[in-house]
Amino acid sequence: MTILVSACLLGIDCKYSGGNNCNSRVVKYLEGKQWIPICPEQLGGLTTPRTPAEIDLGDGNLVLEGKARVMTKDGRDVTRAFIKGAEESLKFAQLSEADTAILKARSPSCGHGQIYDGSFQRQPKPGSGVTAALLQKHGLKLLTEVDL
Ligand code: SF4
Repeated sequence: MTILVSACLLGIDCKYSGGNNCNSRVVKYLEGKQWIPICPEQLGGLTTPRTPAEIDLGDGNLVLEGKARVMTKDGRDVTRAFIKGAEESLKFAQLSEADTAILKARSPSCGHGQIYDGSFQRQPKPGSGVTAALLQKHGLKLLTEVDL
């Protein structure tokens, strides 16, 4: 089976800052396995670098239900791009028959179990990112780099 992986965890420079979140535990865990890197925010059409964004008053599940928004630090609504990125990521999962995703903790797209709270103060709150929420709705098992 194939594993979807947040590309920034593998050293791909797709993070909002233009850098990455390379994680040696993730790289080692994937040795000998079949995996596909994804960056939902790039798949949603956002640029790199880009202004950081967080989910305002809710989490990815509420975003998918139209009850919460993803806002940039400078106050732009990027909800549509985040939903688009989640939908494109789901296509990768379905085409590759992935059953698991290893995702970047606390991201508004990739976070699972915890995300940043919308204050841009790096404060966590319970919840999932938009892509994590959609992948979980479709039956994928989700892990973050913290779980490995
Ligand atoms: Fe892209 Fe997800 Fe990494 Fe953000 S956390 S840079 S959306 S792969």
